[in-house]
Amino acid sequence: MDRYLTLFCKTEIASAHYLTGVPATHKCSTTHGHLWKIEVRLDCLVQDLSKDGMIVDFGELKGCIRKLDHNVLNDFVENPTCENLCIYLAEKIGALLPKAVTLSSIKIEESPGNSVQLGVEF
Ligand SMILES: [Zn+2]
Repeated sequence: MDRYLTLFCKTEIASAHYLTGVPATHKCSTTHGHLWKIEVRLDCLVQDLSKDGMIVDFGELKGCIRKLDHNVLNDFVENPTCENLCIYLAEKIGALLPKAVTLSSIKIEESPGNSVQLGVEF
């Protein structure tokens, strides 16, 4: 039976956004901020763990996400809904990972009780 390691990394960013896919009368069409809570899950088979003994460096992973902190998300993502932000971060984080590591999920909570998760089959 194959054993695998799972890395969970939670971080927060305080960033502004406005949605361009909603009518001008929608409350999210104007610039406003959230404390976004982001959780990433990575999986790696034990036998494929790199020589440094890490799935990925936590600092490097958080650094990738924290580039968005105290910024306007529209400068990075077109129409930055939670969904589009998940897709954007999946691409950015995916580029950091060794081939043997799977980005299994990214969950983004925009406000308490409101979140979106992007999942990948593992
Ligand atoms: Zn919002």
